[in-house]
Amino acid sequence: MNTWNKIVTVNGEISSDEMGITYAHEHLLVTPQLPDEKYEAYTLDDEEKSTAETAEFASYGGKTIVEMTPINYGRDVLGLQRIAKATGTNIICTSGYHKELFQPSWFAEKSDDELFQIVYDEVLQGIDGTGVRPGVIKFGTSHWQITAQEERAIRAVARVHLETGIPISTHCDKGTMGMEQLDRLEKMDVEPQHVLLCHIDSAENYDYALELCSRGAHICFDHVGRELANHDHLRIEMLKKLIIAGYIKQLHISGDMGKKEYLPAYGGKPGLRYILTTLKEDLLKEITEEDYNQIMITNAAAFFLG
Ligand SMILES: [Zn+2]
Repeated sequence: MNTWNKIVTVNGEISSDEMGITYAHEHLLVTPQLPDEKYEAYTLDDEEKSTAETAEFASYGGKTIVEMTPINYGRDVLGLQRIAKATGTNIICTSGYHKELFQPSWFAEKSDDELFQIVYDEVLQGIDGTGVRPGVIKFGTSHWQITAQEERAIRAVARVHLETGIPISTHCDKGTMGMEQLDRLEKMDVEPQHVLLCHIDSAENYDYALELCSRGAHICFDHVGRELANHDHLRIEMLKKLIIAGYIKQLHISGDMGKKEYLPAYGGKPGLRYILTTLKEDLLKEITEEDYNQIMITNAAAFFLG
């Protein structure tokens, strides 16, 4: 397998010490391509507001955002370039495919080779003719299920990883199917250390998170800040236990706040500042600042370097 050994942002490559505090799974500009009006809540298409939210993140010490909006989910990489420049942050964008519900209408008609080639070309040449290259590739699976089309997305993305070394970040619907995703990837000789399984905290199952880590994968706790009443106590407890179990280097924290109701700039709460303020205060009652920095800074730099 090929090595990646670079960190690719929408404004070019950076060194790992330029990464700083990183959120590994967010959405800044996103428009789900489905007619159902419920997706209006998940639409973030006001560049000024998204810039304001990112500036807020930067003002609390944030440096890098990994923007996980894939093909056919309203990705806007030129907009991300402008937001990064305006706020002095790094933004890493993604290629690859979402779970079947959000796959493009042409997906099922393409051959396996074509599905591979589309992502491969984006990685090498850039997205939609912009020259902006992704720094990570994605696939998604459904709730408690991997559909036949999702199996094809997994294979296409795994092949691109094996050809280029670019890291893989996945959508585990409500935290489910992480084991099955790893089974598929390992069968294709993808090493779990290059795989970041997202939304794992949503499964609210410590033993499951522990087992994913024991298999060597990275896991992302990225549904923090939702249940404001309990201040994410369960997640903090799980993170603490995973650290004690020896898996700190595989942990990431992000907000996946791709919804208006989570972002103050769009009228919601708690916003991108949450992990750097309220959650940090709560975490530091249970883990050391060194541990916090390892998760927020060191792990992301290591993972996205490939
Ligand atoms: Zn997401």
